[in-house]
Amino acid sequence: MRIAILGGGGHGVSVAYHLAKKGVKDISIIEMKRINYGSSGRNAGRYRYHFHSKENVDFAKHAIPYLLELCKKLPLNPVCYRTGYLWILKNDETFNFIRRMDTLWESFGVGGKFLDCSEMDYLKSQDQCYLAPQDGSFHHDYLTFGLYEEIKEKVKIINGEAREILTSGGKVVGVRVNEVTFPADQVVVTLGAWAGDFLGKNGFKVPIEPEKKEIFITEDLKFRVKPLVISDQIYFSHTLKGEIIGGIEDSSPRMFTNFDVSLERTLIFLKELRKLVKGAEGIRILRGWSGYYEMTPDHSHIMGYSQMWPEGLYIDAGYSGHGMMFAPFSGKIMADLIADGYKNKFLDVFNPDRFERNKLVDERMVI
Ligand SMILES: Cc1cc2nc3c(=O)[nH]c(=O)nc-3n(C[C@H](O)[C@H](O)[C@H](O)COP(=O)(O)OP(=O)(O)OC[C@H]3O[C@@H](n4cnc5c(N)ncnc54)[C@H](O)[C@@H]3O)c2cc1C
Repeated sequence: MRIAILGGGGHGVSVAYHLAKKGVKDISIIEMKRINYGSSGRNAGRYRYHFHSKENVDFAKHAIPYLLELCKKLPLNPVCYRTGYLWILKNDETFNFIRRMDTLWESFGVGGKFLDCSEMDYLKSQDQCYLAPQDGSFHHDYLTFGLYEEIKEKVKIINGEAREILTSGGKVVGVRVNEVTFPADQVVVTLGAWAGDFLGKNGFKVPIEPEKKEIFITEDLKFRVKPLVISDQIYFSHTLKGEIIGGIEDSSPRMFTNFDVSLERTLIFLKELRKLVKGAEGIRILRGWSGYYEMTPDHSHIMGYSQMWPEGLYIDAGYSGHGMMFAPFSGKIMADLIADGYKNKFLDVFNPDRFERNKLVDERMVI
């Protein structure tokens, strides 16, 4: 079995890791830039159980413990750390929304607690807050490179742009990489925000669109902001060193653009942060960067294969801004499917054909 994995982000590397662990021999990752160039090297490194849809909460209930176990085993330490998420409930609408969500979360055993924000000695807010203590943080680079470290002698890395999926008799037979034909029996598309565009050009309609997001890190302050704090304008948290990492809650047009960071957004982030965190009044920005959320119409990922596709074509992409935390577990599901033909229950829920069948997941919590 010759397997070509397109895209060397967290998901591509995780699929390769899990296939290699099963003893699959001929695995190649085709990456146009370098391992972790895309969103997997540009995210906030947070994990959570708290989603709007029961499908994503259920997925997280399987995926997060899997991530936390893997953290203990990898040769590089991704520093998985339980910090919690804290929502600032600015008005009745958000309060009532979170109250409804708490009932769902409680039913999955991950309920949180309502409290006065003033109980958080680092916050200036007098609003109501909601603390979900089960969530946390990890370092995304060490996760991907920890997986990569385990397989780098076993997997070929092909540096080039995948341009065309080659088929014959209803089956995948390879990929065109730049101008070269690369034979393969199975092709796994783990192209993140680029997956929809690539598959579309190959005649397979998959609704994944790039949405640019900027993210910032400040100079360090004494560590106090343990949870990821989410207000209506910004989200932020301390890194262990004491820098504050976060971004603003806005949306950009869905398109490929450059990875610049705008002065305007930097200033909004700084202004809001200084308003909310005690002792952060004069704090400065150390650096900022940007990446893509890989958005689908129901803000949930797409995994498995379509009945309409040639045999041997698979996808694992479209995580809509919450895919880093899921990379280990999704890689396992995909490897079980490709190597053993084992169909995890989530392959039905997050199947690519759900858009045609109008069986969408009701996910609204994109952070
Ligand atoms: C600012 C920001 C904050 C985020 N915060 C979090 C968070 O806190 N927690 C969380 O879980 N998730 C978070 N995410 C989302 C997370 O980063 C992504 O969901 C995840 O990294 C997607 O991984 P991937 O492997 O699918 O895609 P990517 O990491 O984007 O990998 C795709 C790869 O494909 C390559 N590629 C593209 N086209 C081609 C081609 N034609 N041929 C070959 N290679 C190609 C790219 O170079 C890239 O390396 C955040 C994202 C951003 C941008």
